[in-house]
Amino acid sequence: MHEEPHEPQPELHPSPAPEAGGDVEAGEAIDAEPARKPRVIALLNQKGGVGKTTSTVNLGAAFARYGQRVLLVDLDPQSNLSLHFGVESGPEQRTIRDLLLDPTCRIEDAVQTARPGLDFIPAVTELALVEGELAQQEGMQTVLRSKLEPVYGNYDVVLLDCPPSLGVLSVNALTVADEVFVPMQAHYLPLRGLEKLLQTVHLISQGLNPTIRVTGILLCMHDGSSSHARAVIGEIESQLAQFRGMDVPWSTATVLDPPVRRNIKLAEAPSFGQTIFDYAPHCPGADDYRRIAEQLLAGWGLPNTAFDGAGRGGASDAAPSPKRKRKSAQRAKREVSAAVKKTGKSKKVNPTSKVKKSPKVAKAMKTTKSPKAAESPKAAKSPKAAKSPKAAKSPKAAKSPKAAKSPKVTKSSKSSTTKKSAAAQKTIRTKKTTNRSSRPRKSSKAPKPARSKQMRVAKQTKRIRRPLRSGGLSL
Ligand code: ADP
Ligand code: MG
Repeated sequence: MHEEPHEPQPELHPSPAPEAGGDVEAGEAIDAEPARKPRVIALLNQKGGVGKTTSTVNLGAAFARYGQRVLLVDLDPQSNLSLHFGVESGPEQRTIRDLLLDPTCRIEDAVQTARPGLDFIPAVTELALVEGELAQQEGMQTVLRSKLEPVYGNYDVVLLDCPPSLGVLSVNALTVADEVFVPMQAHYLPLRGLEKLLQTVHLISQGLNPTIRVTGILLCMHDGSSSHARAVIGEIESQLAQFRGMDVPWSTATVLDPPVRRNIKLAEAPSFGQTIFDYAPHCPGADDYRRIAEQLLAGWGLPNTAFDGAGRGGASDAAPSPKRKRKSAQRAKREVSAAVKKTGKSKKVNPTSKVKKSPKVAKAMKTTKSPKAAESPKAAKSPKAAKSPKAAKSPKAAKSPKAAKSPKVTKSSKSSTTKKSAAAQKTIRTKKTTNRSSRPRKSSKAPKPARSKQMRVAKQTKRIRRPLRSGGLSL
């Protein structure tokens, strides 16, 4: 991932010497040894809703649970970050707005502690106006840098949650950051947006911050089953590979591993004022963020073996023990009988009844399929069931006008009633070619052409590549 460990290095932006009796507390800014500079990472994407805040909070929480001292900075006027911590702040609480606009506001006044080892600076909605106010200030792009420097010694990692724009707030983040992570979805349009973002970072590297590097593409809300997503990842990786060793800020960028799967628990957690490790430590979302943090720390040469919390060694890390399996089977059984009681009809479980099933119940039901299932109208619709004469006689299918018209049903009845006239069959065929909307779905019985996963991804990649050639990542 990151080849070079994060060595204590000469400070990129040396801390200003504290004035006598000044704001900086003794021992904080100047030690006998120069303070080790934290890794300052901006999570940047000019698009909203891509997972910047979710990743800032949960990566930060994971780093903190690995024993790192973490500071999160909310630079987004939507001020969503603090919602993840359930920390109420009074009107006297100073925010990032004060920090950026008020020369007397010290960083210590704005920092709040969310969890052990995890501090944050909240934002406010008025931050939207800050862009305009900051623009009038001299040295506006470096305000954040000068405010953060005095507390560098207090943290190992600083994560900057950027707004969904490339305005002055993002420029402030890019001026102080050593690295940029780009949270994005593995889709075609975000891939095009990446180009603009890289150009912005390139500009910053030519003036305000020559050492800035884009080091990670952080895939969020990932759907691993989509061949399009796999094709996009392949394309990002091959595009990035072309820049290895070149003099561009993204020459060492990689796609961070693993991608963060789409997981509803990540969306639910902030409504409880919790990080994913508080809310659902065993869910795939927690597991993904923990594993990314673990790998990053390894790449940086920082400790990553002791994780404080249930996330490590959780459900997804290890196969469930027989005891856990037995317990979950018992729980599923209980849910089934509760569902049956709710219907008040029969003690026997009817898998086709309309009782709202929890996934566990549904799973349990699957394994206890009764022969009755084949008789249900629902079952009659399935192509497998259509084979059975019983299913073909299904009164629902015969009566429903919708069903009668449906080409799907016509097709299945075609297979069951061999007496259909050749003329009628011809009409059906003509209909098939002329009326697209009524085109029957392919029968699952028909042998599918042997198209491998690789072929599908290759086809998608070809489609993605075509437009990228005319001005993709090639800056
Ligand atoms: P941004 O900060 O880029 O605007 P957010 O982190 O706020 O994006 O995410 C946008 C929405 O998507 C939020 O409701 C968040 O809870 C949800 N979300 C983020 N990541 C995931 C994920 N992996 N699975 C499901 N929902 C997610
Ligand atoms: Mg956000």
